[in-house]
Amino acid sequence: MLHILDRACPLCGTPSAQASPTKYGNTEWPIVECGQCGLVFIGRTPAQSEFEEERAWERSFVQETERRARDHGALFALDRLTRARFKLAYRRRPKAIVARLARPGPVLDLACGDGNTLHPPAPGYVPFGIEV
Ligand SMILES: [Zn+2]
Repeated sequence: MLHILDRACPLCGTPSAQASPTKYGNTEWPIVECGQCGLVFIGRTPAQSEFEEERAWERSFVQETERRARDHGALFALDRLTRARFKLAYRRRPKAIVARLARPGPVLDLACGDGNTLHPPAPGYVPFGIEV
């Protein structure tokens, strides 16, 4: 069962009723702009309990993989081969990119997957991650 909540601005706490829709997102996941501070964010979110149960990575990854295989057959198989080749060719590259672009300290890995991309971190870097 889905429990979708309207979301207050995560920066200033202004209620969602004072946010304006943008041209991005869709009816299920609208991207809105805060009427007070101007932050643009996803205006609705599942309840925390849903993240832990229905939308847990371990569960949703399997469901999405099965859906892609079913709906896209050959294209899905080709994509998996491409991903495998990419991993072989660029296995250590994310850490090199971080070392080149960021000073040592905390580093946020957006769409971190299983969190292994920056693990173990280079000396001086403290990785944080969020999977979307
Ligand atoms: Zn705000």
